[in-house]
Amino acid sequence: MRPATFEYLAPKTLEEALELVGDDSRPLAGGQSLIALMNLRFATPEALVDLQGIPDLTRISDDGEFIRIGAMASQADTETNSIVLNSVPLVAECIREIGHWQIRTRGTVGGNLAHSDPASELPAVMVTLGAHYHLASKRGERKIPAVEFHQGAYDTALDPDEILTHIAVPKQKPTERSALNESVRAAGAYAIAGTTSILERNNETCLRAKLVLFATGSKPYEVQGLNSVLVGKELNSGSFSEASELVASQAPHFDDFHATAEQRKQIFRALSERVLQETWQKFQVGSS
Ligand SMILES: Cc1cc2nc3c(=O)[nH]c(=O)nc-3n(C[C@H](O)[C@H](O)[C@H](O)COP(=O)(O)OP(=O)(O)OC[C@H]3O[C@@H](n4cnc5c(N)ncnc54)[C@H](O)[C@@H]3O)c2cc1C
Repeated sequence: MRPATFEYLAPKTLEEALELVGDDSRPLAGGQSLIALMNLRFATPEALVDLQGIPDLTRISDDGEFIRIGAMASQADTETNSIVLNSVPLVAECIREIGHWQIRTRGTVGGNLAHSDPASELPAVMVTLGAHYHLASKRGERKIPAVEFHQGAYDTALDPDEILTHIAVPKQKPTERSALNESVRAAGAYAIAGTTSILERNNETCLRAKLVLFATGSKPYEVQGLNSVLVGKELNSGSFSEASELVASQAPHFDDFHATAEQRKQIFRALSERVLQETWQKFQVGSS
């Protein structure tokens, strides 16, 4: 199918772009989702405001405490960026699971987050890492935690006149490790269940644990009560097994053509045990 008629606008600065976006004119990043929706006439904006001509939005930088990833940084550039690989390795690890390389050369970090697909890896990773999103509009700027930005399936805190400019991701501390694990039907496909985790430790003792599920509800879900199972302990396979039972008891279960509710429960139990083990093992092998 072809999209309904629309106007194509190509601002050269963020200020120009902010004059143009609004109720009937949507930002265009790489078009990987938006153009497909327009072709199906699920989206019929009167105008597209192409952000590709604004170089400032592609910048990736290190300000000491945070890695700042421009919303228009392509997923491919982000996953190979040395700052990202060294300081927020979970972001690079996660992006490698998104579709295929060709998709990631066009798809952007900001477009992925603004699209807020419940099966996407990146929103869950940003929630896990405690990232903040920076939004701009003619009215001013604001920053919002990832956990508040993703409000539901394809639903975010973005107002129609706002543009996501960059994402500030806290740098991984030497005492932290993180990992991602997902179940997919074929390489490059969307996950039918996924988990991301971060663990902090002091010597052999766990100081902090966070585990976030995706592809299960309408938005990333942080498992509750994990600290009481893992914190203050020397972790081992018994602790991970106990944590995975907690996950299985909380993961929202539903039947669809990919899996039954019971299968999903089993998948989340296995994935969470594995992701915690992998995260912990990264301490042992000295990997980031
Ligand atoms: C075949 C295929 C497989 C895929 N597999 C996966 C996968 O496994 N996992 C996964 O997570 N994703 C997957 N994707 C999604 C893809 O990686 C992109 O992240 C996603 O489609 C967004 O694309 P985009 O950056 O081109 O944004 P666009 O499609 O251009 O925009 C998406 C939405 O975000 C809005 N938007 C974009 N940028 C901004 C901004 N800066 N500020 C405010 N609003 C903005 C747009 O208006 C639109 O509503 C897949 C896509 C395809 C086509």
